[in-house]
Amino acid sequence: MESILPHAEKVENFEVAHTFKTLGERFMILNAMEIRRENRKNSLILLSIEDITERKLMGRKLEETMHRYEEMIYSSPSLIAILEGPKFIISIANEPFLNQLGKGENIIGTPYLEAVPDLEEQGLGEILRKVYKTGKPDYVHEIPVNITRNGKTVLSYFNFGYQAQRDTKGVINGVAILANEVTVQAELNKSIRESETRFHQMTDLTPDKIICADTSGKIYYFNKSWLNFTGLNLKQLIKKGWEHLMHPEEVKYVLNNWNKAMTGDVFEVELRLRDKNNVYKWHLGRAVPLKDEEGNILMWIGAITQIQKLKEEEERKEVFLKMVSHELKTPLTSIKGYTQFLLEMIEGSKEDVLQSLPIIPSLERIDSQINRLTRLISEMLDLSRVQESQLILQSENFNLNTMVEQCVEDIRYSYSTANIIVNQQSELSVYGDRDRISQVLINLITNAIKYSPIDKNIEIDVFEVREGMASVSVKDQGIGINQDDQKNIFERFFRVTGKDEQTFAGFGIGLFLAKEIMTRHNGDIEVESEKGKGSLFTFSIPYISMDGKEEKMERKNRAVGIPVIKGEFIKS
Ligand code: ADP
Repeated sequence: MESILPHAEKVENFEVAHTFKTLGERFMILNAMEIRRENRKNSLILLSIEDITERKLMGRKLEETMHRYEEMIYSSPSLIAILEGPKFIISIANEPFLNQLGKGENIIGTPYLEAVPDLEEQGLGEILRKVYKTGKPDYVHEIPVNITRNGKTVLSYFNFGYQAQRDTKGVINGVAILANEVTVQAELNKSIRESETRFHQMTDLTPDKIICADTSGKIYYFNKSWLNFTGLNLKQLIKKGWEHLMHPEEVKYVLNNWNKAMTGDVFEVELRLRDKNNVYKWHLGRAVPLKDEEGNILMWIGAITQIQKLKEEEERKEVFLKMVSHELKTPLTSIKGYTQFLLEMIEGSKEDVLQSLPIIPSLERIDSQINRLTRLISEMLDLSRVQESQLILQSENFNLNTMVEQCVEDIRYSYSTANIIVNQQSELSVYGDRDRISQVLINLITNAIKYSPIDKNIEIDVFEVREGMASVSVKDQGIGINQDDQKNIFERFFRVTGKDEQTFAGFGIGLFLAKEIMTRHNGDIEVESEKGKGSLFTFSIPYISMDGKEEKMERKNRAVGIPVIKGEFIKS
């Protein structure tokens, strides 16, 4: 004031910042004026001080906010623009926005739809006007937009957000655009959608019934074949699921398997499904999981094939086999009867003529061939019994050692060239169908002879393989079986193919039946073999030990005070 007032009359709006001891930093506006008084030498100074600290701080805050807001817009990788008024004058557009349009900053201040005419044709002008008019925001995803940049039209995809801008009174005065380029993602999604369409078209073409299920097993897709078969539409199928189409006898079994499959088991079942005429048809259902790179299951794809015709054919084949077997068995039995009758007559005859003729060897030949045929027919009959679950066991207690001796004796009689040694290592009694277990043993021994063209030394062991289990093993020095085939030889009709095996007659039924018979006795049958070196077949069944009986007896006797005498195994 001292320096200004001598030269001027006023000090106007002079901003001063001062830190007061008690108040801290304050901002003030000073106005001063010299007041001259008449007839007085000294003049007065009128001084006004206005404290503007609050206003000043608010101004600073606003500036900072504005700066932050601009920073956000200009440093964002998203495309941001703010358009003003009904003509959509570009007031702000960040670099990514301008770059996408292929334009420079010169378009700022010009109408958006005129600066980029491509957009109006593609319907974006319409969206802008709607948002401006209604004030409702609009969001659109993966929108294809053709933009001409440097004379070249490029197709890109964007996610757009349009938001109306309002003034302090709430009146709409513009539209903000926030966009992200998602071309890579959109193209990927497009190719996924295309591949899905192709998948559906493909699955619709196949006659198989295809289902897709989520990881919990819930089915969310049925192909066209289902619709044709059931007469239902996709919505109805998804709502009702496939349980209601299953035959009541199989629902539990199929669903059990299905649920087990969801935890990693293989799903493969035969089931009957009801068609639109309420007729059940046989199907074979399989499902495989679709996994991600880390092996997590993403979904399940199931294929269900109709096998009704196959089933019918199989049934017909069964009936045929049964019929043929019966038809063959009757004449064979009578031929066998007559052959044995003749043999006995000739053997008992004293006439030299008859004795000198080769009638006996011929009849013996016929007899052995009949035995072979009879066995084959029995196997075929057993096979159909197994399939119809009619293989009934006539179980009894019997001595395993005696049974083995008798079987070997019978075989020695028919196969005089074989050298069969029996080692009875333990004396064991079992409870089971004696004839069926003999059948298993005879099959193993005749196989051992059949598949040992040179060295016909066969060794049979009867032993206790482990506590409670009796085993009989048959070892030969024959052609052996390689590792891969060993897994299959117990399958129905499986025969090893190879030049060694070609020469041996057979149908691949014997071991399948042996396995079935053993399973029904709670036993097992296995093979150890090496190609060219021979095979060792072992079957095992639970034996009856005195221990079990004794324990029961002991308990009973203890109750009545009788001492228990320890014994060996029961002998039949
Ligand atoms: P098959 O009537 O064909 O002998 P099996 O069911 O008894 O039927 O045996 C199935 C197949 O297992 C045979 O075809 C043969 O290839 C193989 N096999 C069985 N036993 C032996 C053995 N002792 N040595 C070698 N191969 C064997």
